[in-house]
Amino acid sequence: MTPARVRYAPSPTGDPHVGNIRTAVWTWLYARHTGGQFLVRLEDTDQARAVEGSLERILDSLRWLGLDWDEGPDIGGPYEPYVQSERLPLYQAAAARLIEQGNAYPCFCSSEELDALRTRQQKEKRPTGYEGKCRTIAPAEARARLDTGEPHVIRFATPREGTTTVVDLLRGDVTVENRTLDDFVILKSDGFPTYHLAHPVDDTAMAITHVTRGDEWLPSAPRHALLFDALGYARPTYVHTPIILAPGGGKLSKRHGAKFVLEYAEEGYLADALLNFLCITGWGHGDDTVFTRERLIELFDLADLSLNPATFDVDKLNWLNGVYLRDMPERDLAELLARRLELSLPPEVLRPLDRAFVEAFTPLVRERIQVLSDVTALVDFFYLDEVPTPPREEFLQKRFKDDAPGAASAIESVADALEAVTPWETPAIEASMRALAETSSVKVGDLFTLVRLAVTGKRISPPLFESIELLGDTKAVDSLRRAASMLRA
Ligand code: GLU
Repeated sequence: MTPARVRYAPSPTGDPHVGNIRTAVWTWLYARHTGGQFLVRLEDTDQARAVEGSLERILDSLRWLGLDWDEGPDIGGPYEPYVQSERLPLYQAAAARLIEQGNAYPCFCSSEELDALRTRQQKEKRPTGYEGKCRTIAPAEARARLDTGEPHVIRFATPREGTTTVVDLLRGDVTVENRTLDDFVILKSDGFPTYHLAHPVDDTAMAITHVTRGDEWLPSAPRHALLFDALGYARPTYVHTPIILAPGGGKLSKRHGAKFVLEYAEEGYLADALLNFLCITGWGHGDDTVFTRERLIELFDLADLSLNPATFDVDKLNWLNGVYLRDMPERDLAELLARRLELSLPPEVLRPLDRAFVEAFTPLVRERIQVLSDVTALVDFFYLDEVPTPPREEFLQKRFKDDAPGAASAIESVADALEAVTPWETPAIEASMRALAETSSVKVGDLFTLVRLAVTGKRISPPLFESIELLGDTKAVDSLRRAASMLRA
């Protein structure tokens, strides 16, 4: 296997969206699979779109997902700098060479002229694009105008005839007629390159073997191929990755549960689960769904990506996250739960939380959560000074509909029984409550529902007897007495 040199080349325009980060996951996996290098390059040539703090958020996203890079803006490397705005002389030299060779020319058209051209083309229902007005300016005249400092851009002199074929690893040959490509801008008036120029220059300079990028770039790929050829560079292997669709089709958005990577981190998803999920959204191996990071590295190949756009399935992500939570060593999970609870419990709860106590309830909740943040609603009652008593109508259902005194006395009988329990351990607690249920006229299920509501404050809770043990005798009995007196009031 030839070690690949691949890159993730984000623009600093905010947090990377899910599709963009999935491409980063695939790219990283391919580097690791082939024993090659994964590098990060910041593409900040569109300064107007730059968002402050993006680079840090992007790098934090990669770090959290465990996608380590071998070269990049923060760590440098043999091909530095890895920030495009620091590489301007390279693009300018390439543009100068293209002009010299007759493959590019300065264009002095003003934006008003270009707007007027576009309007005319639209009115006449012709394709829009630059028609080459400045292409015919004689080199000597062009030079003279440049010397006077006249504002200009540099355009590529696209061949007017023939075709260009790009090879995409997933699609095979993609061929276009050159006359459908206009003389596109390669260097802007501020001396910054467009993506079209920066891509061939940097990917060649950085010895990139595979360019993995979203398929919105596919229509531009022939332009890039022409530039590679004109500059005498060998073309890389292209892999244009399909978009991720919303469930039911259409563009994926936040409404469908798609979030930024760091939001998943904040909400208590596990990096391994998200990595697994993103990788299998558009790639597969047999019928498996759960893949460890190591196994993905072993199996993943860019050539196996699916061309059909995959659908974003948030239920699958949640399910996978639950699988990872259940599979992790209990102590590690307890630590994650403790940290999550420290963020989410009310401020009056003392921090740091007692780790031994969290470890005690971890086995009780691990089957009941899909994301770490689910834990708060399940166990908050352990941490409050008083378990909050649910409203009356929660208790007065089914057997106890319209029977508040009946519910109250059933609860009181449990409080009495619990007061006599020793040792205060789950088996003794359970035995006492079951014995009581047997002699009572109330069905076990109805009785235990009342108790659960009183001692946990909720209808759905961790297992009842264990919860009562962990809550402690004083709090458990007190919560029962308070519920009963509310029902009697
Ligand atoms: N900066 C480009 C983008 O974010 C990179 C595309 C590429 O990977 O070449 O879309």
